[in-house]
Amino acid sequence: TAMYAAKRAGRGRYQVYTPELDTRARDAELRHAVADGQLVLHFQPSVDLRDGTVVAVEALVRWDHPERGLLLPGAFIDLAEETGAIVPVGEWVLREACRQAVRWRAEVPAAAEIYLNVNLSPLQVKQSGLVEVVTGILDETGFPPGRLVLELTEGIVLEPDEATLDRLNSLCAMGVNIAVDDFGTGHAAINYLRLLPVTVLKVDRSYVTGIDDDPRAYAVAQAVVGLGAAFGMHVVAEGVETTAQADRLIEMGCRYAQGYLYHRPQPGDELTALLRRAGLP
Ligand code: C2E
Ligand code: CA
Ligand code: CA
Ligand code: CA
Repeated sequence: TAMYAAKRAGRGRYQVYTPELDTRARDAELRHAVADGQLVLHFQPSVDLRDGTVVAVEALVRWDHPERGLLLPGAFIDLAEETGAIVPVGEWVLREACRQAVRWRAEVPAAAEIYLNVNLSPLQVKQSGLVEVVTGILDETGFPPGRLVLELTEGIVLEPDEATLDRLNSLCAMGVNIAVDDFGTGHAAINYLRLLPVTVLKVDRSYVTGIDDDPRAYAVAQAVVGLGAAFGMHVVAEGVETTAQADRLIEMGCRYAQGYLYHRPQPGDELTALLRRAGLP
């Protein structure tokens, strides 16, 4: 049976609604936002821990909502995943990120070396047309497949069905790189890792927190970093906020990091200046 609640709708008027109706309305609002150009991307660099060189930038979506202001993905991604709106949202993100990265490549010589990381939701990975969508956007924008990194969450990568595995292998054959995002937070069917075309392991922030003062947290992080290294993957520690954490990561042989200590997510045009200043190889 439906739960009813009174909700303020406009100036002093109340309206009765059900949660299902609310979901439908919010879904419609988000789909409209994509078409209406209300989504924006911020980009967060990740760096080489040894010298701070920017090695990649991750595209992170925001919703510049006409009434609520700039919304972080936490406010709408779950709903989008539930209703399927994540498919058009994700396609927009990939196209827009590639366009921006092509502009960086035109404006800043060093940007040619940098990887572009884009998050793919589990639902996108399950779409039969995924490979065609990615190929289409790469062709249309001229972004090189070898510089694209698609970030997938653990669940889907570690337990793929056969069709999904085919899609990942097709992308890999095109030169596209696959990263396991938030590593360590899902069901750890670690054995799958060696069977999959995965080249980047992003160690979740929860493993980084505490490594500077808790020996057990340190030991766990070290094991995860070691696992990635043993598989020959690029290991990126997420959510690095302090120099103490960075020092411990270097000590345990982690090469790459992403976090507020280095760079916060920022609009693409602001990053152009940073890439220019960075004096990359
Ligand atoms: P994620 O992929 O793990 O992205 C990293 C998140 O951690 C970002 O949050 C970033 O702002 C935040 N972060 C980075 N460094 C630090 C740090 O040092 N400390 C702390 N506390 N946080 C840090 P954001 O932008 O709010 O995104 C949250 C999540 O939303 C992402 O987590 C990702 O799972 C999802 N997301 C973002 N953009 C997209 C997208 O285009 N498509 C899909 N499917 N998911 C997205
Ligand atoms: Ca990510
Ligand atoms: Ca992550
Ligand atoms: Ca994370």
